Amino acid sequence: VPPDIEQMFEAHELLRKFYHHLLVNTKDGQHALEYLLGRGFTMESIEKFQIGYSLNSWDFVLNFLTKRKFPIQVIEKAGLIIKREKDGKYFDRFRDRIMFPIFDRGGQTIAFSGRSLGADEPKYLNSPETAIFNKSKILYNFHLARPQMKKLQQAVLFEGFADVIAADRASVENGVGTMGTSLTEDHVSVLKRNVQSITICYDSDHAGIEAAWRAGNMLSEAGVHVRVALMPDGMDPDDYIGQFGKEKFRKEVIDASVTLMAFKLQYYKRGKRLHDEGDRLRYIEEVLAEISKLDNAVERDHYLRQLANEFTLSLEALKEQLKQVSFAEK
Ligand code: ATP
Ligand code: MN
Ligand code: MN
Ligand code: MN
Repeated sequence: VPPDIEQMFEAHELLRKFYHHLLVNTKDGQHALEYLLGRGFTMESIEKFQIGYSLNSWDFVLNFLTKRKFPIQVIEKAGLIIKREKDGKYFDRFRDRIMFPIFDRGGQTIAFSGRSLGADEPKYLNSPETAIFNKSKILYNFHLARPQMKKLQQAVLFEGFADVIAADRASVENGVGTMGTSLTEDHVSVLKRNVQSITICYDSDHAGIEAAWRAGNMLSEAGVHVRVALMPDGMDPDDYIGQFGKEKFRKEVIDASVTLMAFKLQYYKRGKRLHDEGDRLRYIEEVLAEISKLDNAVERDHYLRQLANEFTLSLEALKEQLKQVSFAEK
């Protein structure tokens, strides 16, 4: 390992410990700790996830690390300080934020995400891409979730830090997070190497549902079994656990997840009046198009029968229609 890479790791390790210390033991971090406890984070999760606090200072990190003989260029390349264009002065990237360390699969700290305490924008500020942090490859909490993932052959995929942590509190310990970015092919291959099945538990808002659709297709095309867990309109897993509790989350969200196809059927039904002939025909067409994409003949047959029953249609007519759809798609 080249020396400056080694120093980048070291700088992150030192800061993770110090940020955590500031949060749990100091007066400077008290308001941040109160904010977290007020949101339902427990001391146990704060320890487990090594959550911290960055001081409201422009040069804390700069001084802390240069005093310990870290070259300024290394600190900058690590994304911990930023050089100001106009005068070439350096200042800290993270100031007055809740700090979520991001670990690699070996448990080394390689980046941070800082959440603002108030309404400050951006809500989450991430480390930039660096020599040690490749966002499109990293899943939040992978290093801790992996043993449980392997054991259950199952993972739960979340959008946010707070969701992964709240789920862990609810004993869903096989959860990982995409940290707000869309799922990449690299994420898919990491997941596929470790589990057979994935439950997508994104926010139940418009963006989350769109993202779940896309992630579901990617995973399913990679040969992973996909289920989708949904919550009442607009909620995210952390909100849900805060409002309805851990047990209800496990039973009525995770255990009540549906197959990717069932999720798509539900999605196509939204905003349609199925007793209206036009809407009904449109729905049937959309569903046939989805069925035609399944490579498994047994599955195709299953959903065709389901559709036939639901609208009292003849299976023969649907099969005939499916041939045309499949033909049109090729
Ligand atoms: P919280 O519960 O703390 O308000 P959240 O996780 O519910 O946050 P969302 O708006 O649902 O926030 O965003 C999901 C995830 O997307 C966040 O956890 C974070 O990883 C990422 N994210 C959100 N806003 C930003 C941003 N402005 N810049 C970078 N990443 C962001
Ligand atoms: Mn969201
Ligand atoms: Mn959210
Ligand atoms: Mn949230």
